[in-house]
Amino acid sequence: MIGDGIGLDDLPLREDLRGGTPYGAPQLDVHTRLNTNENPYPPPAALVADVSAAVAEAAAALHRYPDRDATELRADLARYLTASSGVPLEVGNVWAANGSNEILQQLLQAFGGPGRTALGFEPSYSMHPIIAAGTRTEWVRTPRRPDFSLDTPRAAAVLAERAPDVAFLTSPNNPTGGSIPLPELRELVAAAPGLVVVDEAYVEFSSRPSAVGLLEEFPAKLIVSRTMSKAFAFAGGRLGYLAAAPAVVDALQLVRLPYHLSVLTQAAARAALRHAEETLRSVHALSAERERVVESLRDLGFDVVPSDANFVLFGRFADARATWRSYLDQGVLIRDVGIPEHLRVTIGTPDENDTFLAASKEIVR
Ligand code: PMP
Repeated sequence: MIGDGIGLDDLPLREDLRGGTPYGAPQLDVHTRLNTNENPYPPPAALVADVSAAVAEAAAALHRYPDRDATELRADLARYLTASSGVPLEVGNVWAANGSNEILQQLLQAFGGPGRTALGFEPSYSMHPIIAAGTRTEWVRTPRRPDFSLDTPRAAAVLAERAPDVAFLTSPNNPTGGSIPLPELRELVAAAPGLVVVDEAYVEFSSRPSAVGLLEEFPAKLIVSRTMSKAFAFAGGRLGYLAAAPAVVDALQLVRLPYHLSVLTQAAARAALRHAEETLRSVHALSAERERVVESLRDLGFDVVPSDANFVLFGRFADARATWRSYLDQGVLIRDVGIPEHLRVTIGTPDENDTFLAASKEIVR
């Protein structure tokens, strides 16, 4: 291939990016894929038809740039958030982007950067430090308890003392699954002198109330990030969003690329949102399946970390990498998240979960 002889060392790559590792969940063509926390249920036929019609209509205007502010989509998202949380949110409170990863990147572009810090309680979502690196925000790593729960008084003290420009609280936390109760979230946000981003990618799977309920109390420092990738079964559509004070949305206008959300994305997301009730019904089925998987794993003798999300972290394996391989050899792709002795499995359809549990039985043999 042209350019094959050129390596990273031949390029003027930023020094601070040298030796880094890209995000890399393997995309392998195996029968049972339980490694990226997607919703295993494909969109219902009525949703597919609606998305197709909406995209066809939008395609007639493909010669024009999209609505830069995605106003109608944001109004729809505000309505969904208001209906699900009871908190009155308007279009000015909501911002949308290509997945919540882009939301998080825009947040660090605006509020992080050289000379600034972002803090996370690890293990947590691996993209937080990667986005920090990309935006040259210094990453402050703070450990959770050995059982992966958050020691709230200690975490509050760390936030007050380290005073990061941006703190990430992931609830439910990926890859460990636990969520933060609202009174504890309040304590953490109150303790943080800087901005707090509550990453709620999996919140629909949790029975705990959303941090959206704290926005009125902390309008100058709380930002709640959400996605349509998980509960909404729209990972391929790429749509993430946030709820915050309108000034936060104004700040992001300074860093976002113009026309970042295509006409097709906006039309498809709006169509998908019209079917929210139907799509979100899968959440109950997945939560019930999660309980079944957790119990079965415990019966097999595994340690399972309590989860409020659509995945569970379990162990313990002398060699997690080798065990991950053994699952793959049985046609089951799960995730080695780099936590010693542990692996993470996404909750799938009952059939997929049965396949995973059968493979697990082989593994304990
Ligand atoms: N936050 C968390 C905690 C996640 O696990 C993920 C997806 N793995 C995301 C954000 C980003 O998802 P997306 O860009 O698809 O919205």
